[in-house]
Amino acid sequence: MKIGFGYDSHRFCENRPLVLAGVKIPFEKGLAGHSDADVLVHAICDALLGAMSEEDIGCHFPDTDPAYKDISSMILLEEVCSLVRKKGYTIGNIDSTMILESPRIRPYVQAMKNNLARFLHLDVKNINIKAKTNEGMGFIGENEGMAAFTVVILQKD
Ligand code: MG
Repeated sequence: MKIGFGYDSHRFCENRPLVLAGVKIPFEKGLAGHSDADVLVHAICDALLGAMSEEDIGCHFPDTDPAYKDISSMILLEEVCSLVRKKGYTIGNIDSTMILESPRIRPYVQAMKNNLARFLHLDVKNINIKAKTNEGMGFIGENEGMAAFTVVILQKD
């Protein structure tokens, strides 16, 4: 078994949709980034890559490459997932925590889990997503941006 950990953060900005695990969340701001800035999926990709000792998302999908401009991060996740399979691993379970002050995410968590399960070919019961605030502290508390953490277990086939 291999364990992986991933972290990511992005700044909120105007005129972009807020996309988390491929689900569009109604909010007046989105996240700034080269791709669609899906902070949760980036943390999941980094956890999966970390478990395989495959460096990080920036090495595999550089933000200097125009091919990844505004790309859906779910496409990047699919590529990481095919690397998982190619290397002879299956995903055991995924546990993620998002930290953001607003909007409230809970109503969208099930849709996010379903989306991840579909893209990862994983039973939804093996995916957990938590969302919490930062109690008003720091850059997250001031709603400058949000962050996500993920741990994942891979099992050798
Ligand atoms: Mg990112």
